[in-house]
Amino acid sequence: MPRLVIVSPCYNEEAILAYSARELTQLLERLIASNKILPTSHVLYVNDGSRDRTWEMIEELHQENTFIDGLCLAGNVGSELAVMAGLMTAKEEADVVVSIDADLQDDLGAIEEMIDRYLEGYDIVYGVKKSRQADPFLKRTTAQAFYRLQQSMGIRMVYNHTNFRLMSRRALEALSRYPERNLYLRGIIPMLGYPSTTVDDIIRERVAGESKYNYRKLLFLAVDGITSFTTRPISWIVGMGFFCLLISILMAVYVLVSYIEHLAVPGWASLMLSLWFIGSMLLLSLGVVGQYIGKIYIEVKDRPRYHIAQHLQHHD
Ligand code: UDP
Ligand code: MG
Repeated sequence: MPRLVIVSPCYNEEAILAYSARELTQLLERLIASNKILPTSHVLYVNDGSRDRTWEMIEELHQENTFIDGLCLAGNVGSELAVMAGLMTAKEEADVVVSIDADLQDDLGAIEEMIDRYLEGYDIVYGVKKSRQADPFLKRTTAQAFYRLQQSMGIRMVYNHTNFRLMSRRALEALSRYPERNLYLRGIIPMLGYPSTTVDDIIRERVAGESKYNYRKLLFLAVDGITSFTTRPISWIVGMGFFCLLISILMAVYVLVSYIEHLAVPGWASLMLSLWFIGSMLLLSLGVVGQYIGKIYIEVKDRPRYHIAQHLQHHD
């Protein structure tokens, strides 16, 4: 039987904590009673520098409820890093960790299914939103357009999945080897390579409190979701350079013909030729410099180059 830790990031969530603690405790009790998880399983709330009474409430819950643990970050670092802090702390004490937003908009019933998949041998189980009807129209459509853009750039993503997922200890160990600061968990986890599967997640309205994400924050997250994974925009610059070079060759022919036929005003031919040629040289040079910067960027990330899934050996 595995020991489960449920990690939940909280930023100004005082309105919902009591409800969340009640629901998660009930869930743990049910799973323990049905012998799915060890009785030492628990919840780990991560306070992400809240400015309201969130941390005091977590302290109180911890006092009166043995299922509730808390982790208080020194300041607000954003939900991705708060989840990471929780996962890395839970990794030391858990066999399997589920991360879920504190507002419990996700489907709690899916957690039991996630455990079942884990017991079948999956290291990562993604909660995939069945329907996003609870999300406002603009948020839903922009999110979906963004997933498509990422896919078209070769970034592997799980469609309609946010931060509701199960990870085994082995997967968390692999995740701990990604030291990057611009953390975008949804992009990194598919890169780990361990067996993964999905379960359905039916999203509900927030029961209390408000969304902590505004469009400005979402836009930053979206930019990270692209620039943290691919140097493809640099290749586009190179492509543009070659395109302009092609045009400059066509231009050369056109300009020469006009020149010979005496159709051009004096000065036009040399101007046209140098304009396109210099333009294409500038873009190409930028692309070359960009290729080097792209390499530096990939090295600086210091990501692990592989993860080991199994190692058969006779002697230690
Ligand atoms: N959150 C956090 N730090 C932040 C912003 C949000 O830890 O700076 C947490 C928040 O408490 C919640 C989760 O991240 O548990 C998702 O936030 P929210 O529900 O507001 O986002 P939405 O579901 O509306 O996208
Ligand atoms: Mg939410």
